[in-house]
Amino acid sequence: MSRNADRFLASRTAGFTESVIREMTRLALRHGAVNLAQGFPDFPAPEEVKQAAMEAIAADINQYAVTWGAAPLRNAIADYYRRFYGMEVDPDAEITVVCGSTEGMIASLLATVNPGEEVILFEPFYENYGPDAELCGAVRRPVPLRPPDWTFDLEELRAAFSPKTKAIIINNPHNPTGKVFTVDELMQISGLCLEFGALCISDEIYEHIIYDGATHVPAAALPWIRDRAIVVNSVSKTFSVTGWRVGWVIAPPGITASIRKVHDFLTVGAPAPLQQAAAAALRLPDEYFHGLKSAYAKRRAILSAALLEAGLALRPPEGAYYILADIRPLGLGDGDALCRRMVEEAGVAAVPGSSFFRESSAGAAWIRFCFCKKYETLEEAGRLLKEGLRRL
Ligand code: GLN
Repeated sequence: MSRNADRFLASRTAGFTESVIREMTRLALRHGAVNLAQGFPDFPAPEEVKQAAMEAIAADINQYAVTWGAAPLRNAIADYYRRFYGMEVDPDAEITVVCGSTEGMIASLLATVNPGEEVILFEPFYENYGPDAELCGAVRRPVPLRPPDWTFDLEELRAAFSPKTKAIIINNPHNPTGKVFTVDELMQISGLCLEFGALCISDEIYEHIIYDGATHVPAAALPWIRDRAIVVNSVSKTFSVTGWRVGWVIAPPGITASIRKVHDFLTVGAPAPLQQAAAAALRLPDEYFHGLKSAYAKRRAILSAALLEAGLALRPPEGAYYILADIRPLGLGDGDALCRRMVEEAGVAAVPGSSFFRESSAGAAWIRFCFCKKYETLEEAGRLLKEGLRRL
């Protein structure tokens, strides 16, 4: 960009780049590579959900919904939290429907965090949280999750909290590591939030994609932090509709009022007909959610085996649909260089680990593959990697 253009730019945009995850999708398209970078399915969304969207458009639900969400969807969200977690959420005062959890997270931060306040993030962290914090003028305080099991050190976490801490962001299940926070860990985190008067903002978009009998505990289900828990979620991953951009935020009434204001002026509202269809999706029978888990367990097995065979090291994730693989056994340099060569020369796109760390060198040993793909896509990626990595 020329110097002349630079002088027109706001300094709040200077500290971050465009998303590398989404750049890798563009590179995959350019090189005709199998895209295991950006996490979106290549298989169809559930038939009933698509049908509900088509019916909503045909029924002319095509104008703005109530800015904070159509009542049928907010009621479906409240019923869903009662059904899965036994939680009572007030659809009139505690739910904001937003354009995907991406908007949910930034609207929540803009509604609560003042410039100069600190936001704690577990590192590695999902790419968006860095720019989200910067756009609020917040100071990021990363706390490491350490391999192999991605645990944190309680003393290190405690040391990150201070009177300046406004919030901690957790992502549970966690992208990119696949960690599912244990109840003990949630107790520790919530205890610190109480002690330091901080919010707990929890991105729970992978809540149903968990393995080996793991259970999900929403942050807002911990009664002692209900007054400071913000849960961000969406239909994107659970119903394989990442392009719909329908999500929601659950927060106590006073915080919800502020999030609704921000949301109103950012986007007015999420797509009205898709809100109707999202309500139908949330009411799908239990078999749908069981089927989702077992299909993802199979995809996890296919990709894990393929990556191990191609010479990478990994620990199967406990949740979400990513494998953060250790590339050191390959001896092919750092993750950035490897991802760029892999997409061109091996025909498989992944995301460099550096995208999930503040200091990019900290992520050099890792690359992230997603497995939200048809079994045959994953098998094809496995073949390409096995041959391609040998040639690199
Ligand atoms: N969450 C997905 C990922 O990590 C993609 C999100 C997005 O691009 N909006 O790949």
